[in-house]
Amino acid sequence: MTKLLLLMVLGSCWASFCCTMTWRYLLDHKHYPHRRWSCCDHCGRRLTWWQLIPVWSFLLLHGHCKYCHTQIDYWWPLCELLMGILWGLAFTRPLPELVICGAVSSACLIISTQDHFDHRFQPIWLLLWPLILIFAHWPRHLLIDMCQVGLLTCGYYCSRIGHGDLDAMIMLTIVLGSFQSSLIILAACLLALADPPLYQHQPVPFIPFLSLAFLCYLAFPAFSFWLC
Ligand SMILES: [Zn+2]
Repeated sequence: MTKLLLLMVLGSCWASFCCTMTWRYLLDHKHYPHRRWSCCDHCGRRLTWWQLIPVWSFLLLHGHCKYCHTQIDYWWPLCELLMGILWGLAFTRPLPELVICGAVSSACLIISTQDHFDHRFQPIWLLLWPLILIFAHWPRHLLIDMCQVGLLTCGYYCSRIGHGDLDAMIMLTIVLGSFQSSLIILAACLLALADPPLYQHQPVPFIPFLSLAFLCYLAFPAFSFWLC
């Protein structure tokens, strides 16, 4: 129980850190100079310690900055909450798997945050995903996997699919194989149906949904067959 709670708290704190660092150093550096302390992005006032507590600070502040009352983006509490739950679900895993899942989930958080705010991301973070191959069993159906990679590669000629989304789906196929990756892509598509911009004919960032489906797959003990 202690390990479960510790992982949940660690997961939400780590999500807060990853999202903030991504925002500060990879997305927002043009508008806000690097600051040592966490500040409100709108009024620049420094946040006090209790305003940094993942999830709870958002609830205590009713989703608004204490000083200028600007609405806080729901992205932060959502990532903190989901990552806390996902890390908690993985509590039965041995330490080496937890460390690798932590690295993979960090990469997912970084690219999801970039895609959410900027509709693009740096594919280099996808290079952390193959870490889970350490626990995969070989051989796999390499011919079928290669066919799926080939099909996905055709998507680069379609202007309506983001190239970064294709990078991620190809990497997922390489890491998990065609069957498991197809299930995750399908789950991500279903999750994306819940995104309101889809119904307003606006582009929908797919990476957050793909990452969520991927991390759920890794975190749920019932899905531990990913090792087989
Ligand atoms: Zn403010």
